[in-house]
Parts: sequence; structure tokens; C-alpha cells
Amino acid sequence: MPKVLITGACGQIGTELTLTLRKRYGDENVVTSDFKEPENEIFKEGKHYKLDVLDRKRLDDILKFEEVDHIYHLAALLSAKGEENPQRAWEINMNGFFNIAEASRKFEVKKVFWPSSIAVFGPTTPVNNTPQFTVAEPTTVYGISKLAGEGWCNYYYHKFGLDIRSLRYPGLISHKTLPGGGTTDYAVDIFHKAVKGEDFECFLEEDTRLPMMYMDDAIRATIELMESPSENIKVRTSYNVTAISFTPKEIYNTIKKFYPEFKITYNPDFRQQIAASWPQSIDDSQAAKDWGWKNEFDLEKMTKVMLEALSEKA
Ligand code: NAD
Repeated sequence: MPKVLITGACGQIGTELTLTLRKRYGDENVVTSDFKEPENEIFKEGKHYKLDVLDRKRLDDILKFEEVDHIYHLAALLSAKGEENPQRAWEINMNGFFNIAEASRKFEVKKVFWPSSIAVFGPTTPVNNTPQFTVAEPTTVYGISKLAGEGWCNYYYHKFGLDIRSLRYPGLISHKTLPGGGTTDYAVDIFHKAVKGEDFECFLEEDTRLPMMYMDDAIRATIELMESPSENIKVRTSYNVTAISFTPKEIYNTIKKFYPEFKITYNPDFRQQIAASWPQSIDDSQAAKDWGWKNEFDLEKMTKVMLEALSEKA
């Protein structure tokens, strides 16, 4: 079993990845870390470090002591938060990346996972069925940092043989943890409001179509990518992956089938402009061809699971 370190583990993806990897590799083989204090009890049940990925010395100490085989480097500032503080976003997203990449070389980490995003695309990218290889001129600091990171993944693989693998996640939808400040967060909040019996005010326009994915699919994609033989990973920048594309109106109508009284209003803010620069749907046939990627959750199935899980908690 590989021993893994997760950075930014207390976030939306890290919380679910921690639980899945513990089941798969054993509790003792999953070391988690984050720079914020964990709120979720699950982090008290395993080995957890307070780690700012900008602190190279502490990162080295942890890697030296824990002797991990794989790193899942999730720590980042996301799209909406990044726009509030562009320099900080660049610092965390890029210098954090370099610290992980350099420390991985030093301590001979066998594999690294680093998530990219559909935010690498911009207004000049084809919006429908966006190809794996296409124009990418992002307009957010988040997208610029992800695009640069993809280039560095490719560079570290070819130049130093560091086996670093990456996915361009679309918007991710989950019920265990709240999202951390992205442009697709509305698609999680809407479920919480429906279950609480509250009205929902959407920060995007009703017809803004974006690519999305249920978290179970995203975690499975991540693990399938990481467990594929190295020779199957032909794309060393980052793979397009997707599942569902929908608009706020479409997700609202799907939820309404279960909560007929549920009401929505639209009050677009700065995130509308970010969303408008992103693709509406993604071509992930390269991931399907290279390592067999296929999503399982569509809008109906995801809506049912989200509403059931959240109403059990309520
Ligand atoms: P999140 O904001 O929920 O979690 C990120 C975590 O990183 C937080 O717990 C935060 O405390 C931590 N962090 C931030 N700066 C740090 C630092 N300097 N040192 C250590 N920890 C730090 O984000 P998420 O949704 O879990 O995203 C994880 C990764 O996936 C990010 O790289 C993000 O860009 C990428 N991604 C997410 C989505 C999505 O929809 N959630 C989509 C595309 C890509």
C-alpha cells in the first residue's frame, strides 16, 4: 500500500479524498495536512499536521519523517477568492506548487497529484465540447496559475522524471464539506437552501451553463488516474474530465421535482463574468482513451443523492 500525504486536506475535495484513501490504503497510510485548524472530526482520527505549503522547511521535515510515496497537493486559493487577492493567490498556487515539486524530487516521492481546473480556459476557447488541446487564455489569476502549473507539471515530468499527474476538474458538487470560494459554489449552496426550506438567491444568471461533476466521480477519477500505469498517462499537462453540464435554471428545475415549493431568484455578481469566460461543456475523450475515464453520475442521480444526504443531516 502506498503511503500518502494530502495538502489542503480540510477543503471540499480533501475531506472526501481522505475518507476514500483511508478505506483504500488503510488509516495509517494517509497523512493529512492543512494550514487551517481542522473543523471536521475525521482529521482527529488520523495523522494530521498543520502545514502551510509555503513553509518549505516544515514540508521537508514532514516528508523526511513520514517517508510518503505519493502526494496529493490540493492546497490552493480558488477562483472567486483568488480575484479578491490576486498576489496571494499567485503566491499560494505557484510557490506552493514549486515547494511540493522540489521537495518531491528531494525526498524521491514516487507520484504527485496536482489538480488543474476548467479555469485554464478563457473567452477565446471554443465553449462547446472544449477539446483537450485548444486555445487557453484565462482571465482570472486562478486560471493563469493553473495554466502555468500545467506547464510546470509537463516540465518536471520530462526534465526531472517526476511522475506528476493532473486533472482539469470542472465544478465539483458534494455534501460532506462546503466549497471553498469558487465560481461553481452556487451548485452546492442551492441544495442546502432547498433542504432547509429557504429561498435561493443565485449569483449567476439563469442560463449560465457550466461543466460540473459529483464528488464521487471526481474522487474516483483522481484515484484511477493515480493508479494507472505510467505509460498510459500520455498527457503530462492535465486531462480534461467532465460529467454533467447544466445551468442554474436546469438544476433548480431538477430540485423542484423533489421540493415543489422551492424558489430561486437571480442576482449576478462578479462571478458571472468569470463563469462567462469558461467552457459550457468539455470533451474528455482523451482521458477515456488513455485510462478509461467514464462518469457515473448525471444530474438526476446526483440531485437525488445530494438531497437525501443533506436531508438526513438536517
Ligand atoms: P478548498 O478551498 O475547499 O480547499 C483548499 C484547502 O487548502 C483549504 O482547506 C485551505 O485551508 C487549504 N490551504 C489554502 N492555502 C493553503 C496553504 N498555503 N497551505 C496549506 N493549506 C492551504 O478547495 P477544494 O475545492 O478542495 O480544491 C482543492 C484543489 O482542487 C485546488 O487546487 C483547487 O484549485 C482544485 N479544484 C477544485 C474545484 C472545485 O470545484 N472544488 C474545481 C477545480 C479545481
